[in-house]
Amino acid sequence: MHIVQPGMELDVLKENSKIANANYRLMKEHGIKSVDFMGSIGAGKTALIIKLAEKLRSKGVRVCAIAGDVTGADDYTRFEKSGLEAVNCSTGHECHLDANLVSKTLSKINLDDYDVIFIENVGNLVCPADFPLGTDYRVVVISTTEGDDMVRKHHDIFLHSDIAILNKIDIADAVDVDPEVIAGDYRKLTGGIKDIYKCSVKRDQGLDEILAAMKL
Ligand code: MG
Ligand code: ZN
Repeated sequence: MHIVQPGMELDVLKENSKIANANYRLMKEHGIKSVDFMGSIGAGKTALIIKLAEKLRSKGVRVCAIAGDVTGADDYTRFEKSGLEAVNCSTGHECHLDANLVSKTLSKINLDDYDVIFIENVGNLVCPADFPLGTDYRVVVISTTEGDDMVRKHHDIFLHSDIAILNKIDIADAVDVDPEVIAGDYRKLTGGIKDIYKCSVKRDQGLDEILAAMKL
């Protein structure tokens, strides 16, 4: 939860962006490219990261994942089971990762061992937007199961992201959602210059395009 006292919020955000810059520099010094995956619980962030990492690993790219969760280690366990090396990062009570938590987690990783770090943020479409972590790309993941109004309801996180992904297009009909409505909302929000990436992690559709968008 956010506990923000009057006048504190700006300081908190300023401090966060200072540490985010340091995270960015540290990863660059080690030749690491990094991506922050934001999105609701159930959007498919964990599965998406696993699939993207598999594709990269098959090309010899060394990938590590940071699993951000309020408590527990479920995503971390899924990463490890898939063969993806991962580090757990529990936020305690916070509903988002911040640059300081990521900084502490980076200190536990041997950065020379990796080319790419994928960070799974806490499942939440609101406050992760306010806390850049120092990654090359910020990505927001939604799925058709969340309805067709996610872009209209959550402008901020879409505007704060470099790449937007609509997952589970294979079941759009079954949940009565038209992906084109979501795509249209996103296009409009971004002034007609950006398209949402449509994919199905389950059916391995649209994932190469997403890697290309991250220049990976
Ligand atoms: Mg997850
Ligand atoms: Zn939060």
